[in-house]
Parts: sequence; structure tokens; C-alpha cells
Amino acid sequence: MNFINSLLAFLFSGFMFSQAQPSVDFYRAAIHIIPDSSDKSLNGEVTYWFNVLEKTDSVFLDAKNMKFSSVLVNGKKVHHTNTKDRIVLYKKLKAGKSYNLTLDYYTIPKQTVYFLGWEDSISNNNQIWTQGQGKYTSHWLPSFDDMNEKVEFDLKLTFDKDYEVIANGKLKDTYLKDSLKTWFFDMKSPMSSYLLAFAIGQYDRKKLIAKNGIPMELYYYPWDSLKVEPTYRYTSEIFDFLSEEIGIDYPWQNYKQIPVRDFLYAGMENTGTTIFSDAYIIDSIDFIDKNYVNVNAHEMAHQWFGNLVTETDSNHHWLHEGFASYYALLAEKELFGNDYFYWKLYESAKRVQRLNNQGKGEALTDPKASSLTFYEKGALALHVLRIKVGDKFFKQGIMAYLKKYQFSNVTISDFISEMELASESDLDEFVQTWLKDTQFPFEELKLMLASSSADLQTYFNLQTELMSSNAGNEEIISKVWRSDLSSGLRQNIILDYHKSLSESFITDAFDTKDLKIRQSLCITTDRIPSGLKKQFETLLEDKSYITIENALYRLWVSFPEDRIAYLEKTKGIIGLPDKNVRMLWLLLAVLTRDYLREAQKTNYTGELFGYTSMINPFEVRQNAFSLISEVFPLTDQNLKDLVNASVHHSWQFRNFARNLIEKLLKDDKQKQRLLELSKELKGKELRYIQSKMEVE
Ligand SMILES: [Zn+2]
Repeated sequence: MNFINSLLAFLFSGFMFSQAQPSVDFYRAAIHIIPDSSDKSLNGEVTYWFNVLEKTDSVFLDAKNMKFSSVLVNGKKVHHTNTKDRIVLYKKLKAGKSYNLTLDYYTIPKQTVYFLGWEDSISNNNQIWTQGQGKYTSHWLPSFDDMNEKVEFDLKLTFDKDYEVIANGKLKDTYLKDSLKTWFFDMKSPMSSYLLAFAIGQYDRKKLIAKNGIPMELYYYPWDSLKVEPTYRYTSEIFDFLSEEIGIDYPWQNYKQIPVRDFLYAGMENTGTTIFSDAYIIDSIDFIDKNYVNVNAHEMAHQWFGNLVTETDSNHHWLHEGFASYYALLAEKELFGNDYFYWKLYESAKRVQRLNNQGKGEALTDPKASSLTFYEKGALALHVLRIKVGDKFFKQGIMAYLKKYQFSNVTISDFISEMELASESDLDEFVQTWLKDTQFPFEELKLMLASSSADLQTYFNLQTELMSSNAGNEEIISKVWRSDLSSGLRQNIILDYHKSLSESFITDAFDTKDLKIRQSLCITTDRIPSGLKKQFETLLEDKSYITIENALYRLWVSFPEDRIAYLEKTKGIIGLPDKNVRMLWLLLAVLTRDYLREAQKTNYTGELFGYTSMINPFEVRQNAFSLISEVFPLTDQNLKDLVNASVHHSWQFRNFARNLIEKLLKDDKQKQRLLELSKELKGKELRYIQSKMEVE
């Protein structure tokens, strides 16, 4: 998985596994799913084939809140019990024999399958998609909440023919009957249940063939064809690079990527079928500030690390997230160069060190560690391991590990043993320092990074000199600045030392024409000095929406006499997928005296306030709530939208909304309004507001 932000607080609490069934081995499943968007339910039929290893008189499947209409073993009815978590079948099963079981069921999944957009009148935003990891596939398919049970799954789906249906495996066939279409997907190799996925929506696709012949399909909304290139930029390069770098063939028949609305994470590596947040669908200007490259490479790397070899349980989660994060960085190194790579590693190191300094350092072997630890400390650990054993043995170790454990499950010690074998070295000290210790060896790592990166060496030297020398800061910085520096180094100098820099130095820095350096100058300045007014005004033309947003705001605040000119210049710019420029523009336009006629003001206010509505992606809604609540009281409709957001399936957005509600409840007038409003609420929304009112 990949999180939109590496939010530290998120714990992998979802991974508690039911006990495995050592007496049976499931090896194949044929599934037929018929989703019904009208009541967000689904009807399903599944046949499993399994071998009995030891004689037993029962077998179970994890199945959440399901109603079974038929339960057969080898075609015959069988006694069974069904709790809200699991179905248990009672039958004397003989060792060495194979059986099949067929279940017909109906369920309204509480989670894992998400039906979006079916309530509103807009038809092109209707989607159904799944998220299995951390959410349990057993909410829509009787299956295994245990990563150790690997099965070859063949999935068949029936739905409205006007939609596109995508699932794991190769599309073998489709079959049309009246308005319904059935899609047959075939898999060849086994995988854990949490990697099963399907997505339904309005999509077109672009097809690619990788160097090694693997077909790839890049899905997009039909109205976004111009965004396909920037969104999926470098996909082929990344795929070819990873196949080559990992040294083991891509293990699955094809690779598909599908953007969906309001996704829970940045992306999810379902086998051969990555689902990702459509907030990554971007234009070529977005690319500089926000792009899909890292997430793209991360989920692709999981196809080996996580999908081909899978952790036995979350004690070994480093083997998934640390590896996917590290190989994503290697892919970025290939695309963007050494400097980029080492600055990324150093930024990760700083974040991990910050956690460490707060006394919250975590071991990579801790199943409850934060995503920062699993992803970023995890990637750093692999970088260090690679330096320790050398490139050649590292690659040999990786290949041996993937080959030996392909299509099965692994522990950290399985991996370490393969690395020790390949490199003929003892890795006890590495395991202790990097995997088991909660402490983070920051200084040691800095030395290591500096020895590989001239950029970081210069940067660390500069830090030391600024601390120890009697000369003025700008004098010292100027000396370095005049030499041939990378963009990354210059950005960092500005971010760290902008307070020491004179207007003439900053003017020179503006002249570098480097978009990222200019952005650093912009975001580190709160009030623009009049001597730099001209330079800042040029930022409104930069090809970066973050720069434009920040420059517009700062110019508007600093130079009231020119507000109308700034607004005229940025009129009509939408910005990033969360509409950052447009929303700020609307707010400032409404607040600017003598700019708008009354009718325009009403229109623009309406547009801004309307962005909290549930017809918008949650990134847009969150941005709107933030901006509006800073300046205006929320309207009744905004409040309703906020209560709706407080029960949203995305925990990030839900938490944001809940925090804002709590803030409002501290104000008696707002509390009264919410109380009044709650009379119109029902279901989850009503329950949430009532619970808050009781606590108050
Ligand atoms: Zn991941």
C-alpha cells in the first residue's frame, strides 16, 4: 500500500489473523460476483477446491455478515454453522483426498467494497471498487483472513454492460445477456486473499507492452484523455527497470492500473491490478508538484515484494513496505538521477530522526510500527544493507530469496539467511541495529550518505561552517552558492537559511529560473518586502500550481493596492486536483473590495461553498471546508456536508471532519445549529452527532 501522506499515527491494527487450518490446503477458487448498486449488496457464488492433509471433521472460511442459500461439499448438502465472522462446514474429510465446496451467498458489505456516486444525479461518477488489505476480503467473498493461504483465484463478474469491469488476471471472455455483461478473468498462479480486487466504472484504457512482453493497461476516465501522458509518465521505464533490477521475471500475466475516486490510500498493489487514487490524475503542470511516479513504482515493486513472496504475518511487514519503498526510490534514481535519490534518502532520515528524538523510535520488527517506520526507515535499512554487502551480492541475495519463496510466505529471517548465503557474511549486527533496535543511527547514516553524494557532503560542510565560523551567514553561503550547485542543494539552502539572506541575494536566486528554487523562495516568505515585489509578481507565471497559489496569497496580503491586478492575472486557473488555485482565487475575489458586481459575488460564493458537497472528491471537499471555515461561518448546507464527511470511508477525511466538528461544538451558537440540524439526520450521521452531543 502507499499512503497519501505518511501519517505517523496510522497503525497496522488491521492485521490480526485468524488461526490457520493446517489440515487442509485450498488451491483453487472459481468466483462469480453480481454486485447490485441499488442496495449496495452483492450476490456471489464460489467453488473452492482443496486437499486434505490430515483427516479432520470440519473446515471453515472467513465470511463477514453473509447469508448462505446453498452450501455443498462435492455437490452434496452439508451441515454447517454460520456466525457473523465465519462459516464452518462439518464433514468427515479424509487425508490425501481432494474435495470441492460450493457456496451461494448474499451480503451487504460494511467495508472492503465501496459503492460511490450511485445516490447522486450525476451518472459518470458511479464506481464500485474494493480494498482488501487491512479491510478483509471476507467482507465480500468467503475467503481467508490469513495471508498464508494462497489460492489461484478465477473471478467472474456480472454487471451493467455500459460499465467497464476490471479484476485480477487475464480477461478471457465476455458474455452479453440483455443489459447485463459477464466478464471472465483467469489467473494462473496462487496469491493471498487480501490481493483480490475488482473495479467498476467508466473507463477507457491505453495499452502498452513491456520489453519482456508483459501487457499493461492504463485505465483513465473517458474525459481525461489529455491527462494520460502526464499521469502515467515513465510507466514503461519503471516496469522495465524493476524487471531488470530485481532480476526475476514479473510473476503475473499482465499489469493493470485503475484510478478510483475517494480511495483510502495513495495506491494498493492488488495482484496485477493496482488501484490508485484519482487525485493522481494530473496535467503536465501538476507534474512538478504532484505526480504518480513514486506510487506507480511502489505498487509495481509490490508485485514481487508482497504479492509473489508474502509475509507470514505483520511482524515481517518490512518485507512488503520497506522493499516497495526502496525499489520505488531506485526507479526514481534511474529517472531523476543521483542527487534526487540522495536528497530523498536524507529527507526520510530526517523524518525518522525526528520521531526518534521525540522518544518514539520504532523497530522494523514491531508489527504495530507506524508507516514512517515501515516505509521510510525500511527503505533506508535496505540502502544500508546494500552498501554493506555490495551491489552484486545484494542482487544475488534478492534473486535467491524470490526464487526460493515464490508464491509462498516469508519471514525476515528467511530473507536475512538468503542475504547471508549470497554475501557469505554475518548480518547479526545489521539485524540488531537496523531491524530490532528502536533507536535510529542518524549520524552513522549521514556519514554513509555523504560518502556517496557530493551534494550532501557540501551541505553538511556548510552546516558545520555556519555553526562554527565568525563570518556572516550570507558571506559563507554566497561562497558555496557561486560554485556549481544542484537544484536540490540550492532549495535546501533557501529552506534552511532564508532568514539570513539579503534582498540582493534573493533577487539572484530568483534569476536561476529554477521552478523549485523559486517555489522555496515563495513559501519561506510571509510578507513580501517592497524591494522584492517585482520578483514575486513573476511567480504568478511559473508553471507550478503550488507556487501560483502561494504567490497569489502573499501578493494579495502584502500589496492591497494591486489586488485586482493579481486576481485578473490568475482568473480561470484551476490548479492541482484539489483545485488549490481556484478555491483560493474565489475566496480572495469575494473578499476584494470593488472587484466584483453583486451578482458575480453571489456566483463565486456559491461556487466556493458548493465544493463541500459530496459530489466532489474528498480532496476538494477538505480544501473547501478548510478555506471557508477560516473566514466565513459555514452555511447549513456546509454543515450537512460536514456531518456527511464525518462518516466518510476515508479515515483521513473522516478525522479531518470530526476535528472540525469538535471545534464547532465548542461554540454554543454552532452547537445549537448542529443540534437543530440533527433532526434531519439519520443512520450513521445521526449516531455520530448524537454521540458528540452526549459527550459534550
Ligand atoms: Zn506499499
